Parts: sequence; C-alpha cells; structure tokens
Amino acid sequence: MANDFNDHEQTLHYKSLLYELLEKVNENNSFGSILKEWFELFCQMNGVLHASIYMKDHSEEIRCRLTESIGAPPSLPSFISIGHSNHILPEILDVDMQLHIKESPLSIYNAAVRFQMDNNFSLIMFFEKPKGTGSELEKSIKGSKMESERFLNRLHKLFDNIRKEQQYKELFRITEKFHSSMNIDNVLAEIITTLRRVYPSYTYYLMLSNDDERNIDLPIKDLEFDSENTVAMQAYVNGTIQIEDSFTEKNTILYAPLRGKQGVYGVLQALAPASVIFPGDEVEFISLLANTAGSALENAKLYQQSRRLISDLQLINETSHRLNSNLRLSDTIQYLKNQIERYFHATEVGFIMLNKEHGEGKVLPGSSLYFQKESGKKYIQFVKEKIKKERDSLFIGDLNNNCCEAFSYEYCSLMAIPMVHSNSMKGFCIVLQEKPYAFTFEMYKLLQSLIHHSTLALSNSMLREELEKMVITDYLTKLYARNYLDDAIANSMVEEKEGTFILVDIDNFKRINDTYGHQAGDNVIIQVANLIQKNIRSTDIGARWGGEELAIYLPGAPLRVGFSVADRLVKTVQEQTTPSVTVSCGVSYWNIRKTEEVEMLFRRADRALYFAKNNGKNKAVVHEQDLKMMV
Ligand code: GH3
Ligand code: MG
Ligand code: MG
Repeated sequence: MANDFNDHEQTLHYKSLLYELLEKVNENNSFGSILKEWFELFCQMNGVLHASIYMKDHSEEIRCRLTESIGAPPSLPSFISIGHSNHILPEILDVDMQLHIKESPLSIYNAAVRFQMDNNFSLIMFFEKPKGTGSELEKSIKGSKMESERFLNRLHKLFDNIRKEQQYKELFRITEKFHSSMNIDNVLAEIITTLRRVYPSYTYYLMLSNDDERNIDLPIKDLEFDSENTVAMQAYVNGTIQIEDSFTEKNTILYAPLRGKQGVYGVLQALAPASVIFPGDEVEFISLLANTAGSALENAKLYQQSRRLISDLQLINETSHRLNSNLRLSDTIQYLKNQIERYFHATEVGFIMLNKEHGEGKVLPGSSLYFQKESGKKYIQFVKEKIKKERDSLFIGDLNNNCCEAFSYEYCSLMAIPMVHSNSMKGFCIVLQEKPYAFTFEMYKLLQSLIHHSTLALSNSMLREELEKMVITDYLTKLYARNYLDDAIANSMVEEKEGTFILVDIDNFKRINDTYGHQAGDNVIIQVANLIQKNIRSTDIGARWGGEELAIYLPGAPLRVGFSVADRLVKTVQEQTTPSVTVSCGVSYWNIRKTEEVEMLFRRADRALYFAKNNGKNKAVVHEQDLKMMV
C-alpha cells in the first residue's frame, strides 16, 4: 500500500514537473531544448544514467534520427532504421531480443522504450538499465511512460501550432507585399525568398511559360508545352497540386500551379531531398503561397497589360492627330520613324513606295538613311519579294535563322507591314533591330495597326505632293515649268545677294526636226535637259523656257561661276548628244547693288543669246552691260 502511495506521489510529482516544462513553450524556446529537458528529467526519475533518444519525425518514413544522449555516449549512428511498420518494436523491450540492434553500436544499451504519439510521430529511447534494478524499473518506466507520451504529444502539437502560426504570419506578410507590388519580378523573387526561409531544405524552381524575358537572377525554368515533364504540365493544365515520387532519382517533387482567377501563370516546383515525403501541412502552405502568388502575378500582368494598352492607344492617337495636321510628306515620315524608334526600340525604320517608275521601290525621304545604302537595299529586296508572294505582313525573329542564303544579315529582327490603300499595295514599312527576337508579338500587332492608321494619310500627302510637283514640272523634260522659274527668281532676288540667269537655245533645231522627225527632235530636247540637270546643283533651277529653249537660274552664283556653267554646258551638249546638236547661251546677272525687275534679267539674257546666234552659235555670251561684273 505504502509503495503504491509512493508511486502515486512520484507520478504526481512527475506530472507537475511536466506542467512546468509545458509552461516554457513559447517562440523563444525550441522544441529541441524542451525535449532535452524532458529527456533529462525522465532519466533522472528512473535512475537512468546512460541513454540516447532517436526520433522519428512525420516527414521521415522509416528512419529515426539521433536526437539527444546523456551519460558520455559512444559514437552512435545518426540514423537507424526501424522498419516500415511500427509494430516491429514492442513498447518496452529488452534490447538483447532485437537482432538488428545487437549488431549495431547501440548494443552498449540493454533496454529500450518506445513512446508512441498521435500524428505519426514517435520516439525511441535506448538505455542502460541501472545496476540492481529489475521489475521495479520496468514498473516505474511504465508509470511515467503514459504521462510522458501525453506530454510529448502536447509539446509536439504546441510547437506545431507555433510553426503554423509563423507560417500564416509569413503568408499574410507576403500577401500584403504582393498587393503593394505591380512588378512581376518582385512577386517571383518574393515567392522564392519566402519558401527558402520557411522550408530551407527543399530546392525550388519557377516554371513559367516563356512569354516574357525575365532579367532577374531567379531559378526560372521554361514551361514548354511539348515538355516531357507531364506531371508539371498536368499541374499547369488542370491547375491542381501534383506530387511525383521519383524512385530513380530518389526524390519527391511537388508541383503547385501559380493560379489566378483568369488562368494559370506557371508552376512552382519544390524538390525534396531523398526519402522525404511532403507532409500535408507543408503541401497546404506551399499551395496557398502558390495561389497567392498566382493572383499577385495576375494583377501585375493585368496592370502591365493595361499600361501597355494605354500607351498603345496613346501612340495611335498621337500619330493620327499628327498625320491629320497636313505635314509635308518627309516630315510625316520622319515623325512616324521617330515614333516607331521610340516605341519599338527599333534601329532602322524605312518607308518604301512601290510604283511603276521605281521598280525597285523608292525609299521615302524621312526614312533611315541606311535604306539608301547597298546593305539596306538587301532588306528592301527581301521584303518586297516576300510580301509580293505572301501578301501579308512579316514578323521575323531571327533573319539569319530563317534563310538559306549565303550571306548573313546584320539586323536579325525584322517587321514589315504593307501599306494598302483602296485594295492596292502602295508600299511597305520595314523596321529593323540588331538583336534577334527584339520585337514581341504585341509590338508587331501595334505596328500593324499604326501603319493601317497612317496609310491613308501617307497616300494623301503623297498624292498632294505629286500634284504640286506636276504643276511646277514640265511634262517633256521633267525640268521645272516656266511659272516656277519666275517665282523662284523673284524669291531669290529678295533673299540672296546675287544670281545668274542662262537662256539656252538649241542651234538649227528646225533642221533636226526636218531630218529626223519631230519625235527625235523631242528626244534631243530631253537629252539637253538631262545634261543641264547633271551640270547643276540641286539648289539650282533648270527649267523649260518654251519650245526648244531651256533656262537655268543659279541663285547666289556670281557671274563668273554662271558663265563657266554655261560654257561647260555648251561643250558637253556638243559632245554628248545624238544626233549631235549644239546650243547657244545668253547669260545675265544681278546683284543687290543694282536692283531690278525679273523682266530686265530675262531681256538681257535674250539679247546676249541673240548676239551668240549672230556670232557663230555654239557658244555662251554674257550681256555687255553685265560684263564688267565678271571679276
Ligand atoms: P536657231 O539656231 O536660230 O535657233 O535655229 P532654229 O532652227 O533652232 O530656229 P528657231 O529656234 O527659230 O526654231 C525652233 C524650232 O523648234 C521651231 C519648232 O518647229 C521647233 N520646236 C519648238 N518646240 C519644239 C518641241 O517641243 N519639239 C520639237 N520636236 N520641235 C520643237
Ligand atoms: Mg528657238
Ligand atoms: Mg533654236
């Protein structure tokens, strides 16, 4: 009776000590440190001096890890295997009975006790029976075993709760952070950092469908639709968690979809080290995190998309506005080129017109100068042929990859959009960039829409300029018409300090007409006109005066220069026309010191020409009044 009472007392005492231990459970004490205190207490209560505990955690399938030892332990294995079933070990056993323990260094112990708890968590204590103890010890251990199991269970649950609470705090923190971030890279980085902090023993990868280039340093893999990784694909397509046990690789892989409301944005891959299985609550945490991340990614993507749409609209709007403001063609092209360079980070932008006269395609002024060069024409030729054949826009990520041609293209990325107006293709726009895959599909769509919006305005402004040119151009010689010449000289007399005028008349032209016919006569006039065009600069004006009489005006040119132009022309005409003709030139000059009417300039040139005709033709003559100005 007395003995029973003592036992009861002892149990009560033990219980109260365990309560005190439980009081210590908080965030600052680890599970391990309290477990150690319990272990020492248990050994002390039972007079055990030498013991070691192995713990089987819920994440381990069959292995137990050496957790604590007291009383100068020998070198023990860090892990022991207890077989697949817990039934192999009796609750209290004589170690001698267990063959696999006998053979191991654990044979220094002669007894063991197993503490079985809920939740697939158990603990085995190997110990050396104190000398002179027999059934008494067994009784005392049995007595404290039940209390210990209850205590360990509680301890385990309390720490489990603390851990969960911390995880959910983490989840809450990350959710808040996600909501404040519209940056996709930040969201992805945050997922990885949080997971590494909460479960450091796993390896993580983000498997993303490669729609965007991510330039941050994260473990990102491409999620490819033809991938052999069917489990990852399953997670992506079904939007559900997948767990794969790989026996060959000896690891377990978890795939959690990054799911938002409108779709799945990728898959989070977590690799566990050998023989670890994912416990339910970790799966739950990872999938919650993946879902939160999915929503955050969705928000960030939608935000980016809406920003892009806004800027796309701005571009179209701004451009349409500008195109309607009646700019000159070259200004319009220049403006479009700048817009395209800015929005698409393009290097070269060209607008090419196709018409009967320019079989090759005419590069419109305002385009990148590159397209005037031989190397640039290569691209024009390429696009022209391709568009003619396919009758569609071109979007090429890597030109050098696409062609079987011998030479390589210095620009790899190419977009080309035909300019179609009233059902006919007027030309096309080419956009180039050095780097391969520099343009996204969205950029291509935007460019298409931009060109469609601009084609009408471009055609109109081209038509207008053609018409303007027609009015001031002589139909036969393509030199300026008389009215343009008159205006240009009048303007020059206001803006310049001097100028020379040359009147050119083909000698004995009647004879040409009579001998070769009127058609050949016309052709001779064209030949002389072309020689004039070749002999003057682009700022000078070559014009048809009327009939077989042509004229040249050299704004800002002193008489000496003007005379040498006329003299040179006289020589070249004789040398380079077939049938060979000669010309006579009358030259007149003005400067600011003797202001006069345009009419007077013409009259003096006419007088000089008359003089040339009467003095043997085939020569240039300066009017005598102007001669003194020739210095
Ligand atoms: P001269 O050396 O004195 O200038 O002799 P000419 O034969 O050229 O005489 P003139 O300038 O008086 O005659 C010009 C002729 O050129 C008259 C006209 O039949 C001819 N002619 C004028 N315009 C054209 C044209 O557009 N085409 C052709 N084929 N002939 C023209
Ligand atoms: Mg004449
Ligand atoms: Mg003549």
